[in-house]
Amino acid sequence: MHHSTNNTHLLLYPCPGYGHVNPSLELTHHLLRRGLTITVIISATDLPLLDPLLSSYPSSLHKLLFHDPQINPSSTQPLISKILSTQQLFNPIVKWFKSQPSPPVAIISDFFLGWTTDLASHLGIQRVMFSTSGALGSSIFHALWRDIPEINDANTDKDESFLISFPEIPNSPEFPWWHLPPASRIYKKGDQYFESFRMTMLANIKSWGIVYNTFEGLEGVYIDHMKKQMGHNRVWAVGPLLPEEHGPMASARTGSSEVPPDDLLMWLDTKPDESVVYICFGSRATLSEGQMSVLIGALKLSKVGYIFSMKASGSSSIRSEFEEDLVAGRGFVVKGWAPQLAILKHRAVGSYLTHCGWNSMLEGIAAGVMTLAWPMGADQFANATLLVDELGSGKRVCEGGPEIVPDSNELARLLDESLSGDLPERVKVKELRHGAMKAVKEGTSRRDLDMFVKLVCELEDH
Ligand code: UDP
Repeated sequence: MHHSTNNTHLLLYPCPGYGHVNPSLELTHHLLRRGLTITVIISATDLPLLDPLLSSYPSSLHKLLFHDPQINPSSTQPLISKILSTQQLFNPIVKWFKSQPSPPVAIISDFFLGWTTDLASHLGIQRVMFSTSGALGSSIFHALWRDIPEINDANTDKDESFLISFPEIPNSPEFPWWHLPPASRIYKKGDQYFESFRMTMLANIKSWGIVYNTFEGLEGVYIDHMKKQMGHNRVWAVGPLLPEEHGPMASARTGSSEVPPDDLLMWLDTKPDESVVYICFGSRATLSEGQMSVLIGALKLSKVGYIFSMKASGSSSIRSEFEEDLVAGRGFVVKGWAPQLAILKHRAVGSYLTHCGWNSMLEGIAAGVMTLAWPMGADQFANATLLVDELGSGKRVCEGGPEIVPDSNELARLLDESLSGDLPERVKVKELRHGAMKAVKEGTSRRDLDMFVKLVCELEDH
C-alpha cells in the first residue's frame, strides 16, 4: 500500500560512519518508496553509501554534502569530539534551509546528534531522533547520561566492579562500572566539554518522536519504557531495517577487501548446511594481540569451518597462522570487508561470533543464526544481555576490553557446540527470525512505519 504523501519534504541527518549511515539510509529508502521527498546530510566519506539510492530516486532524493567538520586534534575522547564537531553544521544547515522553496517539515537525525532538537526548534520544525541502537541500549544510555553526575559521585575511587543499576528500566539492568562507555567513566562535573556532550544527549528526550531500528517482538517492554520517558506515544519501532536482496542499498554495502565477495560465497557453497561459524567484530573493532592468539588457538582446537572477517592491524604473521586452514579448505580469513549479510544468510553458516553491535545483532537474527556473544564496549554489553539472558538466542563467550581474553579450550568447545545438534538457542533465534520477518511485512514494524509516515505528512498542514 502506498500513501499519497503530498511530497512532504524531510531532512535526514545520519551520524557519520558505516553502522549509523546504513540503517538511516534504509529508513530513507522506505520513506522514498512511500512518496516522500528526502534531503540527506552526508559527508564526502560516506557519499558512496548514498550514491546507489540517489540514482534510483533522482527526483525525490537530494544530498546536502558537507566536509567532515574539524575535530580538535588534542582531544582525548575522539568519539565525543567527533560528535561535538557536528555542531559546526548548525549555521550552514540554517542557511540551506532558508534557501529552500519548500523546506523540510522535520529533521530525522541520529541519537548522537541531540543538538538538532535545538536546530529544529530554531527552524520551527520537528525533530525526530533515529536510534541505531536498540531500545534497551538507548534506555540505558539515556538514564546514564541523565544520572552521570550522581553515578560518578557515588564511585569516587573509580572502583571497576562498582555496580550501577537502573531500577526504573524494565528487568532492572545492572552493570559494573567497567562496562560503561569510557567517556562516562571520566566525566567531570562542570567541565564544559563533558557537559555539552551530556546536554546534547539529554536533548534527545525532548524530540518530537523517536524511530527505532528494532521491533516489538524483540524489545516491546523497552519501547514502552521509552514512551513513558518521552511522555507520549510518538515512538515507532520499524526494524529490522535491512536491504532488499537486489535493491539499490544492497549494492551500496560494500567495502574494500582482498577477497572478492563471490569467492567467499562460492566457498560456502561447497560446505554442508550449518557447518561454518562466521566471525566478525564489526566495522571498527580490532582484536588485541592476546585476543587474536586465543581465537587462533581456539579455532585450531575446534573442528568448525569458519570465515573470519578481520579488520586487522593484521600483520602477515597472523595471516600465516591461517594459511594451513585455508589450504585445507577449512577456514577463510578476509582482511578488510566481508559481505556480511550474504554470508549470514547462507545455508552453510550455523553460528556467528560477534561483538554484538546492534546492526550485527539484527542481521544475525534476520538470518536466524545463533550468536556467540563477545561484547567489547558501547551498547554491546546491553545487547548481549538482551540476546543471551533475556531472549536466549545466543551464548556469551567473553566480554570486555582488549586486555580481556577468553580461555581457548572453552572457546573451542563453544565453537564446536554452536554447530552441533538442536541447541535451544538455535530454535529460539529461528523464532525471532520469523517474528522479525512478520513484523516488517505485515506486523508491528509495518504498522509503526505507516503511522510515522502519516503523522509526518500531517505536519505539512500545520
Ligand atoms: N560489516 C560488513 N562486513 C564486515 C564488517 C562489518 O558488512 O566485514 C557490516 C555489518 O554487516 C554491519 C556493520 O558493518 O551492518 C557493523 O555495524 P554494527 O552496529 O554491528 O557494529 P559497529 O561496526 O558499529 O561496531
